[in-house]
Amino acid sequence: MLELRPNCECCDRDLPPQSTEAMICTYECTFCRSCTDTVFKGRCPNCGGELVRRPIRPADKLAEQPPATKRTLKPHPGCAPRP
Ligand SMILES: [Zn+2]
Ligand SMILES: [Zn+2]
Repeated sequence: MLELRPNCECCDRDLPPQSTEAMICTYECTFCRSCTDTVFKGRCPNCGGELVRRPIRPADKLAEQPPATKRTLKPHPGCAPRP
């Protein structure tokens, strides 16, 4: 099951489970769409894999299996965390 991490690892923007801006790799490294496009050019900086749009978990399933709450923040070259 996907972890559904709550934020972009690069800029720390919130990425709620229903967000269509969330992008993930096969290891669930999670980024926003703008970091994916502008900073990483579609490649995960951790594993080199493809970043694709994270699917939206249906609301009823979300109630049963809530998203992760632990924020992951890892600076990469080009990342500008919000103050
Ligand atoms: Zn970001
Ligand atoms: Zn990755």
